[in-house]
Amino acid sequence: MSVRVDPSVQAELTHYGGDTAVKCFNCGNCTAACALTDQDAVFPRRYIRYIQLGLREKMLGSLDPWLCYYCGDCSDTCPREAQPGKLMMAGRRWLISMYDWTGISRLMYRSPRWEASFIAIVALAVLALFTLPSDFGYGLLAAHPEARESVNLAYFAPKDVVHRWDNVLGLVLGALLLSNAGRMVYRVSRQGPPVPLSCYLSELGVMIVQGLTQIRWRGCATGARKHWLRHFFLVTSYVSMFALVMIFLHWFQVEDTGFHWTAYIGYYATAVLLVTTGWIIIDRLRKREQIHKESDLTDWAFVGLLFLTGLSGILLHIARLLDMPMTTYALYTAHLMIDVPLLVLQVPFGKWSHILYRPLALYLLAARRRAESRRPAGVIEGSPLPVRS
Ligand code: SF4
Ligand code: SF4
Repeated sequence: MSVRVDPSVQAELTHYGGDTAVKCFNCGNCTAACALTDQDAVFPRRYIRYIQLGLREKMLGSLDPWLCYYCGDCSDTCPREAQPGKLMMAGRRWLISMYDWTGISRLMYRSPRWEASFIAIVALAVLALFTLPSDFGYGLLAAHPEARESVNLAYFAPKDVVHRWDNVLGLVLGALLLSNAGRMVYRVSRQGPPVPLSCYLSELGVMIVQGLTQIRWRGCATGARKHWLRHFFLVTSYVSMFALVMIFLHWFQVEDTGFHWTAYIGYYATAVLLVTTGWIIIDRLRKREQIHKESDLTDWAFVGLLFLTGLSGILLHIARLLDMPMTTYALYTAHLMIDVPLLVLQVPFGKWSHILYRPLALYLLAARRRAESRRPAGVIEGSPLPVRS
């Protein structure tokens, strides 16, 4: 099989934060230092080699960047300061933009202006939805002056309308992310021998367990407990919020100054979101650990919008309980002007997409391993991981 070399790929990766591949002289220290490597998954040296040689197809079909959790142990041991952990992070960003068929991800990662513009466009679209004359938002409120005296969200953001939009948004974003994941699976499946369907079926549990727990992170040698626990609680916050908005919205969105028990789930989700994202922001500002040293605008936008989503949500709740109608409506609008861009841009096109890509990568690797283990001894159909360290 011919191998195409694309020398431009190394320069391309610099746009995603990976500008140090040129320093690597392939000693392999990084792979030896990584606690997550094994005989079937030897990284990060192998992926850096792909970058240096311009092996675009290998890079596109590689799972390596998704198997790394950026603990930074490899970067600490690199004699050339090539920052292999950072290169794996850049590899993940590059892969996200390559899986995305719309090109939005590529624009966001390569240009802060585009990212800021996309956020502004989606936020302004939400503002327009609330402010343009219609049977929603301030248009609806104008026809019900009594809702200006006391909070009544039924005359500002009726639950059935909000729920319908939630479902539409969820379906569109889910379809975009799944279509990008389909491209990932296609690229990966082109590398190595075919994997029988039965192997994929028998390893489905890996996808579920890793998706819910990211337990593999615990295998990192440095900082694993802290980072994994923080991430795990953050995931429980996402799941709680998803359930409140997509399933329990009818009860969760109390329209007057009343209270419903689902608010306790909201308190948990918001508290965890504020504490974990606030903690991450402080760590990123301090830059003491490798994982926090190299944050680009997309990383800041993600964690910043998450924090502001939690903050605006809790302020909105307080304003409603205190019966401050105009403040409540303004905060409701502001909350969605933060939350909707976060979801629209980060789930299918940005950092949040790793919620699917990482467990999917571990699942595909497990299926490969299963296929490998079933192959009769002595029969070589080509390595499932063609280039070894
Ligand atoms: S990144 Fe550093 S440690 Fe890893 S192979 Fe290259 S020079 Fe060696
Ligand atoms: S950052 Fe950590 S997990 Fe990633 S390749 Fe380096 S040592 Fe392995």
